Amino acid sequence: MTKYTASLKSSKFISRQVKSDPHESVTDRQERIHGFDQSRMDRLVSLLIGAGGLGGEISHGLLKKGIGGLTISDEDTVELSNLSRQFFYEEDLYKNKATSLARNLVKEGVNGTLICAYPYMIQKVIEDGTDVNCDIVVCAPDNDETRIYVSKYFHPSTPVIFTGLDQNANTGYVFIQEPGKACIGCALPNAVNNEREPCPNTPAVIDLVKIISGLVLFSIDSTVMKRKRNWNFRQVFLGGFVPETMKDIEKRKDCALCSG
Ligand SMILES: [Zn+2]
Repeated sequence: MTKYTASLKSSKFISRQVKSDPHESVTDRQERIHGFDQSRMDRLVSLLIGAGGLGGEISHGLLKKGIGGLTISDEDTVELSNLSRQFFYEEDLYKNKATSLARNLVKEGVNGTLICAYPYMIQKVIEDGTDVNCDIVVCAPDNDETRIYVSKYFHPSTPVIFTGLDQNANTGYVFIQEPGKACIGCALPNAVNNEREPCPNTPAVIDLVKIISGLVLFSIDSTVMKRKRNWNFRQVFLGGFVPETMKDIEKRKDCALCSG
């Protein structure tokens, strides 16, 4: 496990220490957003599963917002084709994604975020007995097997934001699984029925990654704070030939994952 603390070099800019002059606070502008709670963000601990394109963008946003703690799990290695859209540099090539991302995030920290990285898939991290307790999970792997495992493991206790992109780089989705409510199987039954084949070397592009990551960041805030949201599933299509989907999915009685 690799561990870092990511903060501004000059502690005088940290918000809580300069209440007398809020304009000198690094988090001042987001604190002005209705429902945004910086003290919640300061204390928030998130587990990020998958350090690829989505994981990189999402973690970058969380560091900028000043999240308290971030644990990253990914067993994959950085490849050359990742550099066009993932948070890696030439010197990261052929190294582990979780530890490389953690190292690259250090410079992005503004609020003393504690970053931990595990160079393994989440199944191994949990089976090794690692404490994965957290306030919210972000599940951005490249396979449904991991999504199903994460859905079952955290469904009783912890909200999970699931996210993924399609194999044509045309659409992506966000689904928020809250304890006891609809699970990923209720939202995407084909994922549970093994009807979505993993497919290596599919098209991928950074514009879609940016859009979906922004929705994930908003989903985190609106799950743990009072920023308002009236959907738990949202799917965006880049070209607009298919309209955006936004809905509130309910628990399904015939769900292969969470019913019975
Ligand atoms: Zn379900």
